[in-house]
Amino acid sequence: MPAVKFIVAHDTGNPESTAQNNVSYYERTNNEAYASAHIFIDDKEIIECIPALTATPEKAWHVRYDRPEDNQLFGVEANDAAIGVEYCYGANINANEAYKRYVWVLAYICHKFQLNPALTICGHFLLDPGRKTDPVSGLRASNRTYEKLLLDVVSEYNSCLNNNEQINMRLIKNNSSNKIYAIGADNKKHWIFNAETFTTGNAMGLWGSWDSITVQNDDSFAEGHMILFVK
Ligand SMILES: [Zn+2]
Repeated sequence: MPAVKFIVAHDTGNPESTAQNNVSYYERTNNEAYASAHIFIDDKEIIECIPALTATPEKAWHVRYDRPEDNQLFGVEANDAAIGVEYCYGANINANEAYKRYVWVLAYICHKFQLNPALTICGHFLLDPGRKTDPVSGLRASNRTYEKLLLDVVSEYNSCLNNNEQINMRLIKNNSSNKIYAIGADNKKHWIFNAETFTTGNAMGLWGSWDSITVQNDDSFAEGHMILFVK
């Protein structure tokens, strides 16, 4: 994909299907189906199905080419210039946790590709009206609105930007708890969930290698935002 110009906010339209359910489906059908999105998010996982954040973004087919709305709004076809992010919802998915991760990822994509979060996030329903209602319907199913989503992403983005905490994080290993955190410029800690998250953050330049971990006793860091790419 040449350049990321905007983000399409989707929901799966399939209540109770998890991020892994969706990604497994696309993996099974990738020889026969074109439809896909880059990232799927539920209450436990943020899964990159098609490269978007961890490598040069590849193309995903998540908006119909025969609709003119993407060209009218952004001057380009969504599939050629937008990252598609899918929100999972349903009775088995904790909406607070899934929504929080959805907001983090949308804000993080804006940060990574230098997009204005107030102007470059677009619901699928605006690009294919009459046929699509996402993510309004999925958000409504978890008692949230599309308008609130946009506001929440902007405030998440702004608070991270103000703290400039996405780059040059230090790695700290706490002596007593044996946990490893990344500490941002604002002296807040960010959880590193597992070895895969660690490797991904390292590849993204967020922090150094295992060798760079400082061991210390101090565990007084405040909790920061969790815009980490959690896999
Ligand atoms: Zn959609």
